[in-house]
Amino acid sequence: MKKRPVILGNWKMYKTNREAKAYFEALLPQLSEVKATVGIAVPFTAISLCKELAEGSSVMVGAQNMHSAFEGAFTGEIAGKMLSDAGAQFVILGHSERRTLFQESHEEIRKKVEKALNEELTVVLCIGETLEQRKAGYEEHLQEQLTSALGDLKKTLLSKVIVAYEPIWAIGTGVSASPKQAEETHQWIRSTLETICGKTAGKKIPLLYGGSVKKTNIENFLEQKHIDGTLVGGASLKAQEFASMIPH
Ligand code: PEP
Repeated sequence: MKKRPVILGNWKMYKTNREAKAYFEALLPQLSEVKATVGIAVPFTAISLCKELAEGSSVMVGAQNMHSAFEGAFTGEIAGKMLSDAGAQFVILGHSERRTLFQESHEEIRKKVEKALNEELTVVLCIGETLEQRKAGYEEHLQEQLTSALGDLKKTLLSKVIVAYEPIWAIGTGVSASPKQAEETHQWIRSTLETICGKTAGKKIPLLYGGSVKKTNIENFLEQKHIDGTLVGGASLKAQEFASMIPH
């Protein structure tokens, strides 16, 4: 039987605290019987409120980025320990919007991954290729992203890593990868993870698909053998819609 899927939302830079409260009040009553692990990555300003609102439910609250330093003179940045302190249980790192719009390098992402894991946050590491890279063969690019972020990490830390495969051409475009394309890529990622992290640890890392997942296509992804869940951007912004995507 397939494992319980992991369904994560990513609100990006949306929702004030008032909007977050209304969202949780609408979402939580619909999740009492869900057959999934559910989490939402919210803006920094909404973490502690959402954690409070989620209390007693199974919804995890997470963040969307952090700095790699413990603390310091980094105006405008946020440290992993501040996220944990505010109640975040996980953090998304290496999202393609961070890599492209904010020029985050492999080295920077690696430092963030290690720091987050040491702060006992679960890391949702995003990887993905552009359309050009896919046409040229996605393997080299994804291998580089995986090796730089996870290579030589202590085995004990790997148990708190989730990988989200998010082809850049599918994020926010309305054009998702086909379930077959995603499944093939996930199968390749799984065997690459086993090489990079060792067979035992590499087998256990949950592998999510992200990129224009919505109510009408989520089942097609979740039924694939190598897809353990989804990371949902736009379609996670409406409580009703997100709730309807979570297996009951
Ligand atoms: C994302 O930003 O992680 C994402 C998958 O976005 P969308 O679902 O809107 O494509």
